[in-house]
Amino acid sequence: MQVEKSVGIDLGLKDFAATSDGYLFTLDRHYRKLEQELAKAQRANGKARARAIHAKIKNSRKDQLHKLSTALVEEYGAIFIGNVNASPLARTRMAKSVLDAGWSSFRTMLQYKSDDAGVWFDEVDEAYSTQACSCCKRRTGPKSLEGLRIREWPCPECGAYHHRDINSAENILTVGRRRLAEGIPVLPAPSAAAAG
Ligand SMILES: [Zn+2]
Repeated sequence: MQVEKSVGIDLGLKDFAATSDGYLFTLDRHYRKLEQELAKAQRANGKARARAIHAKIKNSRKDQLHKLSTALVEEYGAIFIGNVNASPLARTRMAKSVLDAGWSSFRTMLQYKSDDAGVWFDEVDEAYSTQACSCCKRRTGPKSLEGLRIREWPCPECGAYHHRDINSAENILTVGRRRLAEGIPVLPAPSAAAAG
């Protein structure tokens, strides 16, 4: 299978998605404003108001995820996304934003839209995608949870300067392309990639 234009996607909390092409997607300000209104209603114990705002937030998010997933499927011939799981993060203090992030509904949208459009779609194991330098493949980057605050970092081995999530998206693309080329599922092996 020959795929001209492919992309790796890293899902996150700071930005909703980063792509291997260097784009960052955030949810828009209207959505942020609704979140503030929701917090206010919750503090005032306005349950009906809070419910109504919550429904608005859900719709706004869904609408944005639809637009983004449609744009990606129209743009690329192959889409690879990390299999980031909300549950380990849900135990941290960011639990609420993790559960609200919409990662799984976004992946579901990408899956069925890709199927409809004949676009290759694959979820890849994103182990070490944050730690591995996308240039030299050495694990010189921030360790997943403990290094969440580190947004940008220089690789001490090869000197490349990385945006955390874009670097991760590049690694996801590398793993996805390898799986596509081999036609069989393989586990990502950054050390093997460095040797090859
Ligand atoms: Zn490096």
